[in-house]
Amino acid sequence: MKHKILFISSEAFPLIKTGGLADVAGSLPIALQDNDQDVCLLLPAYQSILEQIIETKVVAETSHYGLKINILETTLPGSSIKTWLIDCPQMFDRPGNPYMAEDGNPWRDNAERFALFSQAAVDIALNRCGLSWQPDVVHCNDWQSALIPALLKTFPHSPATIFTIHNLAYQGLFSSQTFFDLGLPDGLWGMYGVEFYGQFSFIKGGLVYSDRINTVSPTYAKEIQQVELGYGLDPLLSHRHLQLSGIINGIDTDVWNPQKDKYLRQNYNAKTLHKKTANKSALQKYLKLPEEANIPVIGMISRLVEQKGLQSILDAMPKLMNMPIQIIILGTGERNLEQDLLNWAKQFPDKLSINIGYNEALAHQIEAAADIYLMPSIFEPCGLNQLYSLRYGTLPLARNVGGLADTVIDCNDNTLKDNTANGFIVTEDSAEALVTTMIRAIETYQNQQTWQQLQLNAMTPDRSWQSSALQYIELYEKAIEDNRARF
Ligand code: ADP
Repeated sequence: MKHKILFISSEAFPLIKTGGLADVAGSLPIALQDNDQDVCLLLPAYQSILEQIIETKVVAETSHYGLKINILETTLPGSSIKTWLIDCPQMFDRPGNPYMAEDGNPWRDNAERFALFSQAAVDIALNRCGLSWQPDVVHCNDWQSALIPALLKTFPHSPATIFTIHNLAYQGLFSSQTFFDLGLPDGLWGMYGVEFYGQFSFIKGGLVYSDRINTVSPTYAKEIQQVELGYGLDPLLSHRHLQLSGIINGIDTDVWNPQKDKYLRQNYNAKTLHKKTANKSALQKYLKLPEEANIPVIGMISRLVEQKGLQSILDAMPKLMNMPIQIIILGTGERNLEQDLLNWAKQFPDKLSINIGYNEALAHQIEAAADIYLMPSIFEPCGLNQLYSLRYGTLPLARNVGGLADTVIDCNDNTLKDNTANGFIVTEDSAEALVTTMIRAIETYQNQQTWQQLQLNAMTPDRSWQSSALQYIELYEKAIEDNRARF
């Protein structure tokens, strides 16, 4: 059945991206549209978005907190997805990252910025600003849009709501005073509302009030109900377990396709795997690493934060730098982790290439050039890079957590026999476990016949959004039913 879906996100590729959420918001709406759904995307009008888009028009106006808000209309580049931008220059027209100032600290007015975004979203969701479009479902993502289900539930006839957790570690916590300063409905305050141990929690708006909650892998949906990864929200999530599910992310198979990836020196597919090596030598040359075809190249593209297992990599460095491998890392993040990696690279310039920064082209080139993809995350809601790696025949060496556990199948006798093996699993967050698994991967690499079989196992399955999009449509229907029961 066709539904009207308002998809709300604080980032969407290719307009604005800091992480996996952007990839999802830039591709799931398209997959939903391909499955006959009527989808509109809603984003803040950040300065960098305004600079990129050529055609926009003001289609509606509203105001909150004494500020005038224009709703601009454009389309998501490369698609026909109608995209509305919440344009309030005082909040969003500033340089840099959507969430952080230049000094790496969150923008001081983040609560005000995303509360205003949420209030404007509610106006659209209730079809009260003249857009003549009434969504059946409002799909919110992460804390920046988590207040919306809470606000909507204060109206008697509001659309159904879905809240997707892309990373529970980011919750949008502010002082209780902030809640009252923002003039939010009193009924939302309290431990059964958006209060979290005396603080104001944006994410609780989504977790408490949405009709359905989902996260981006079945394993992470279970993990966040446990104390270790629940951040104190596990009792609430366990309480709502009947409304909580996991749907693994798909990937944009046009953007991440080794056969037509415009950033690659040499395109290839599962039938022309031998051509992949041209990408390896091109990247080795570009990054000034020795051009050695038979040395396994280990790639990693990541936010450089503790979550991604950086400490275990740093602790393993003395042993890794003694192995016959080259490691290429691209990322930005915590300054001390960046500096520690750079220090190792200074000592081992022939083995380690550290590239600090955000670089879309280099990310694609690493995926194609590397033999092994390193992802020893401490936790990983879904993870996208292991999915890109699998599609590029670059075998993940990953922890058995979250979406990694759901997508990376460890190479062992059984999985080799039934042709499901597609990578190497690290069973704990430690340098020793990482090194042991790396040795196993390098040994396997020596047998090129086995390696190629693993690459084919990795490349063959369909990793597009199609099957996940159908699961989202099913979830929308359940949410509509649940919401109807309220009337
Ligand atoms: P997370 O959302 O936790 O950062 P994901 O694996 O879900 O992790 O998604 C990360 C996305 O961001 C991937 O598309 C990855 O390629 C991209 N990415 C991360 N860091 C960089 C970087 N420095 N340069 C280019 N792309 C990056």
